[in-house]
Amino acid sequence: MQNLLEVKGLEKEFSLGNGFFKKSSKTFKAVNGIDLTIKKGEIIGLIGESGSGKSTIGRMVLRLIEPSSGKIIYDGKDLTNLSHKEMKEYYRKMQIIFQDSASSFNPRKTIGEQIVNPMLRLGVANTKKEAEEEVLRLLVKVGLKEEHFIRYPHEFSGGQRQRIGIARALALKPEFLVLDEPTSALDVSIQAQILNLLLDLQEEFNLTYLFIGHNLSIIKFFCDRVAVLYKGRLVELADSDTLYKTPYHPVSRMLLDSVLSLDKKPLLDNVNENTGKGGGCVFSEKCGYAIDVCYGAHPEVVHLDGGHQYACYNPPIEEGVEFQDEPQRKLS
Ligand code: ADP
Ligand code: MG
Repeated sequence: MQNLLEVKGLEKEFSLGNGFFKKSSKTFKAVNGIDLTIKKGEIIGLIGESGSGKSTIGRMVLRLIEPSSGKIIYDGKDLTNLSHKEMKEYYRKMQIIFQDSASSFNPRKTIGEQIVNPMLRLGVANTKKEAEEEVLRLLVKVGLKEEHFIRYPHEFSGGQRQRIGIARALALKPEFLVLDEPTSALDVSIQAQILNLLLDLQEEFNLTYLFIGHNLSIIKFFCDRVAVLYKGRLVELADSDTLYKTPYHPVSRMLLDSVLSLDKKPLLDNVNENTGKGGGCVFSEKCGYAIDVCYGAHPEVVHLDGGHQYACYNPPIEEGVEFQDEPQRKLS
């Protein structure tokens, strides 16, 4: 499979600006040296605790915020230094769906009108009539009705609002979508509907997804590969099956434990006496497996066969966790 997106050494430093007149010189690295490749037609999951840098990565990839360093290469083209004018084509090809995508709609305009406008602006449709017809078709495609075209954003439920956000993204004929926790605000039954819709659309339009989430039970059936993030660092990357059956990194185990049923033994319960020391590896402070070397420097990435990679000095692999149920591509 061909690479659609390559991210190399991506970093984001925010200034902890508390100075009123000038920016504070103190900075905080929210994203630290991320290398990631996404193949055409693939669904890759980016998971991690809240604050681990997932949204920042998603937004940098789309150049909605600027990286502090690193490269973003899309379909062979280096986007990192393109001007906003040069980015126009990519602003169309790359779309984002976030938790409440319809919140960015203007409450005083119909949703149809608001999907049509960017189509005309970005040249996806030549005439207003052509755009309107396409939007009607898309509304039905995402599970809404044609008559919803003339409704206002507040008239829709949470699930419907996500469908509208998806229709707006699709209207621009994108190739690549960042899905930033698209179902986190929805009821479980609605979540499944939206995720199944996203899977159907991915297949039909051969889309590539970067799916951001923290719930591993969703990632499991949704993603081909999963990247695990902790404090801005990519700590493990593997195909979904491998990550579930033989996670190498204690952070992956921690995230798996949080979706394991309560009768299963948590894997990080062996408390290390050094825990709390900090320094070195980003997880050393909390890690039950930390040994002396972990407090020195953050570990290099180790590459295993089959594209499995992890960054850990002391992976607790001898206690391999086995998930019984196979990943499925549909939720019931
Ligand atoms: P996630 O999506 O994984 O929850 P984010 O990417 O939103 O995490 O944030 C990563 C870290 O960067 C967090 O600690 C957050 O507070 C910080 N952060 C995000 N945006 C900004 C900003 N504009 N200025 C300063 N800090 C930010
Ligand atoms: Mg986020």
